[in-house]
Amino acid sequence: MKAVGLFSGGLDSIIACHLILDQNIQVICLHINAPFIVSEINAVEKSFRTLRDRGAELVVEELSSDFLNILMAPKHGYGSQMNPCIDCHIYMLRAGKNLMVEIGAEFVFTGDVLGERPMSQSKGALDIIEKESGLEGMLLRPLSAKLLKPTEVEIDGRVDRDRLLDIKGRSRSRQLELAEVYGLEFIPSPAGGCLLTDVAYARKVEEAMEHKELSLELLHLFRYGRHFRLPSGSRLIVGRNESENKVLEGFSGDEYILLEPKKDMGPTCLLIGDDDIELASSIMARYCDGEGDVRVRVNRGGLELELLAKRLEDSRVRELMVK
Ligand code: SF4
Repeated sequence: MKAVGLFSGGLDSIIACHLILDQNIQVICLHINAPFIVSEINAVEKSFRTLRDRGAELVVEELSSDFLNILMAPKHGYGSQMNPCIDCHIYMLRAGKNLMVEIGAEFVFTGDVLGERPMSQSKGALDIIEKESGLEGMLLRPLSAKLLKPTEVEIDGRVDRDRLLDIKGRSRSRQLELAEVYGLEFIPSPAGGCLLTDVAYARKVEEAMEHKELSLELLHLFRYGRHFRLPSGSRLIVGRNESENKVLEGFSGDEYILLEPKKDMGPTCLLIGDDDIELASSIMARYCDGEGDVRVRVNRGGLELELLAKRLEDSRVRELMVK
């Protein structure tokens, strides 16, 4: 028998997979890569190590643009910031259901813990998520299963309910004990890493929605740099350090204009939109070392030009910054 497990890479999802593997069920883990989730390098691979050793498989899918509609108008609302957690769970579980059907698995499971997160893991929210994901009776939460209605696979004995758990609440003590039992060397931090819950990131999402320009690429770019909205509607992103400069340099194509100081030490900037190149250059000049005007190299799709930019005064810079 096969089952699909939603695999965030967090401790709960790792333990849930081990509990299902304990019942000699073949586990296929589905991880959805989302641009607003940050984790340390190779974290998913590290989290998956003990599961791979036990024969589980890992399928990685990219978040689709359908998620943007959810983010703009979540049926069940936002959490503390721009995190539409209930709708997000439903989206991920629908992806899990599609994979279940595709590979002939018999149920889907998650690392949900009853009451761990107030918005998406209350009893009411778990029920809504199960119903609206189209997985009624087929969605197992092994960590809290004994506190929830039995699923079809528990009722007919394909999964032994007695070997599932009754964890609830925010404490991770039982999960940490199980981490030891299962020999986990890598214990992911409980922070979760969803930037939609971060105030500054959420503000950028909201501002982009106001300008009707939200995209998966922007959700990625919001992680980097200072963002400015220019009078023409163009967006300017100013790198804050060497590694952000490198990320911004990686963007090319007609929709992007790359600005860099020719001689002075200063940031790499990405201008999205056609207009306000001079103003963008002046903002960039403000962040360059030294004094006086700054010679700026402007590159659009390989075509280069140079211009001399005055440093924009701080008060105007603050006015234009998205915050
Ligand atoms: S915290 Fe972020 S990733 Fe997690 S369910 Fe909420 S919106 Fe989705």
